[in-house]
Amino acid sequence: MQHARVDIAIFGGGIAGLWALARLRQVGFSAVLFESNALGGVQSMASQGIIHGGAKYALSGNLTESARAIAEMPAIWKSCLRGEGELDLSAVKILSEHQYLWSTTSLVSRMAGFFAGKMMRSRMAQVAEGDRPKLFQHPGFHGTLYRLEEQVLDVSSLVRALSDQFGDHCYQLEDGQFRFDRGEDGSHLISVPDHDLNIEAKSLILAAGKGNTDLLRKLGRDRPAMQLRPLHMAITKGDLPDIHAHCLGSGSTPRITITSASMADGGRVWYLGGQIAESGVDCSPDELIDIAKRELAELLPWVDLTNTEWSTLRVDRAEPKTAGGMRPESCFLASDDGVLTVWPTKLAFAPRLAQEIVTSLEKDGVAPQQADMQGLDRLPKPDLAVPPWELT
Ligand code: FAD
Repeated sequence: MQHARVDIAIFGGGIAGLWALARLRQVGFSAVLFESNALGGVQSMASQGIIHGGAKYALSGNLTESARAIAEMPAIWKSCLRGEGELDLSAVKILSEHQYLWSTTSLVSRMAGFFAGKMMRSRMAQVAEGDRPKLFQHPGFHGTLYRLEEQVLDVSSLVRALSDQFGDHCYQLEDGQFRFDRGEDGSHLISVPDHDLNIEAKSLILAAGKGNTDLLRKLGRDRPAMQLRPLHMAITKGDLPDIHAHCLGSGSTPRITITSASMADGGRVWYLGGQIAESGVDCSPDELIDIAKRELAELLPWVDLTNTEWSTLRVDRAEPKTAGGMRPESCFLASDDGVLTVWPTKLAFAPRLAQEIVTSLEKDGVAPQQADMQGLDRLPKPDLAVPPWELT
């Protein structure tokens, strides 16, 4: 039996686990990551890649707690993307430096309160007619267009950049392959009988998204409680223009959020989120596709969708349980007896969550110790996940 010893074992290779792995190794911990499937995660790879700065949440006119908590994230990401921040993400592809916001009705009254906030004033501006992107230069567009200074990232390239730098410390470990135990000194033991391997870790970080509940159960715990908020995303492929935009409706969630990407075969894809993905949860794929087609025909009637191919994706957002099942205000971390359970709740919150993890370990007196990584190479390496539109 081979016995390996590390400071921290992270479970889950989505953005939360990968960013935490990077930060923990940077501050001197011997941290390793176990992924049950593919690096890049489930939600992370299915996300729209928007580095929110809170504008979306301030649309009610009030600067909510959510908007405040997330406001610092774009600057942290931007410095990483320039290669000057806490992580070097200079290899990540930025799909767009900004997004557009438009409305079928007048935005002016709703925007008045919104623009009153200094933070938001600096991040959003009305776009003059001559500066509009091609999609909105059409004579059929009569609304007002705003530009929101929030970046949209190619999540595949983000995962690749993190995997290129920290993939040596990532291993594939399926749920049925291991069990948890405790050492006499209270350390956690991960026993992997098929590989004749025992891994001792001072702390465990559960960053497995929806998989956290099963990992907690395996540890004999039922807290912290998780909630799932399902989405049903529509995907359309074809000769489509590049656009990253939200159309505002009457509620606080955009009526539709369109992000676009290039596919491996050179084709273009629109990935449709926002309200239609939330209310489309109860629809069959065909029903959602019909709704999405109708929405686009109403909102962007000049876009030719005749030769587009359609599919849908069901995916759950995994988060800490909140009163009434509401969206949590910020990222989440609970530390209990050497186990940190985390949910970023947003891709954009990954740096903040990683910092909270480092702070929590320091508070619990966990310090880097001599590691012994021998034997870990008995475990296979995980593949990289692919975007959902490459699978449908
Ligand atoms: P995940 O990405 O789900 O990763 C969890 C990983 O854990 C997976 O790889 C899984 O295979 C692995 N795992 C599961 N069980 C185990 C186990 N037992 N052992 C080891 N590994 C395990 N946020 C934004 O900021 N901007 C956006 O534009 C945005 N758009 C979104 C669009 C959609 C459709 C969805 C669903 C979410 C979106 N979000 C967005 C939210 C964001 O994607 C998530 O908050 C974030 O990606 C969660 O990351 P994670 O690492 O916790 O989870």
